[in-house]
Amino acid sequence: MVVEVENFFGVYMLYCTNPKFKGRIYIGFTVNPERRIGQHNAGRHRGGAKRTSGRGPWEMIFIVHGFPSDIAALRFEWAWQHPHSSRRLSHVARKTRRESSLQFHWRVVSYMLQVAPWNRMPLVARWLRQEYRLDFEPGLQPPLHIPVTFGSVRARKQKDQDEGVERPLEKCLLCQAEVQQPADRLSCFHPSCPMIAHLTCLAKQFLKSEPDQLLPVEGECPACHHSVLWGNLIRHKKGCYGDLEEVTSALSQEHWADELQM
Ligand SMILES: [Zn+2]
Ligand SMILES: [Zn+2]
Repeated sequence: MVVEVENFFGVYMLYCTNPKFKGRIYIGFTVNPERRIGQHNAGRHRGGAKRTSGRGPWEMIFIVHGFPSDIAALRFEWAWQHPHSSRRLSHVARKTRRESSLQFHWRVVSYMLQVAPWNRMPLVARWLRQEYRLDFEPGLQPPLHIPVTFGSVRARKQKDQDEGVERPLEKCLLCQAEVQQPADRLSCFHPSCPMIAHLTCLAKQFLKSEPDQLLPVEGECPACHHSVLWGNLIRHKKGCYGDLEEVTSALSQEHWADELQM
C-alpha cells in the first residue's frame, strides 16, 4: 500500500547497493521521495547529487516525514548529516569501528527524535525497505506520538480547495468564528465526532497545561472528549492517518514550529 501525504517534507536515508561502495549511506531532503530516488539513480546530470552520482544503485530505505515546513526538514537533514557539529547532539558519540554506516546513522536519528525541537513535532518514522529495518535501542525509543511504520509513501498535490467550490460555512467550536482557510481547519478523527476548530485555537487549548511550549503534543477533543495526540490530528489532516491507525495536518503549523528555538 502506498500512502499519499499532502505538504510532504521528508528527510531520507539512501543505502548503496553497488558492490564497490556497498553500505554507504546518504542523507537527503525531499518533497517527493519517488522522484528523488529516480534522480539519485539517474546521476547528477538528471538532478542527482554529486556524492551519489555514478555510485548507484541506491535504495531509499528509511524516511522521517511530517515536518511542518521545508525549513524544519532542512534543519533536521543538516543535523543528521553533521551530528558532531550540532549542539543539540553533543551527547551523541562518534561512529565506532564495529558500527556499520547504517547502524551509526540509525543511532544518530534515534537520538534526534528524542531531543527538542524534533521530539515535539508530529513526525513519522517510516521504513521504506523493511529488509533493512533496525530497532531502537532500549532507552532510545521515540516519543509515543512519533509512530514507526512501514511501506511506501507518496507526496500528493494539494487539491485546489477553493476553486469554484462553495464550501459550507463551518464554525470553530472554540472561538465560534468561521473557519475560512482550509489550512487552518482541524477536525477530529474519531468516527462521528463533529469537532471542527481553528488549528491555532485548538493548539492554544491543548497548550493550557504547558504554557512554555509552542507545539502541542496531546489534549482532549472539546467535542468527543477523547484524549487525542496532536500529531494524529495533523496526520489526519494531511492524509496519512488511516495508515497509522491514528493521525491530521497543518499549513499554519509552519510558523508554530519555525518559531521553535531551532
Ligand atoms: Zn477558533
Ligand atoms: Zn473528537
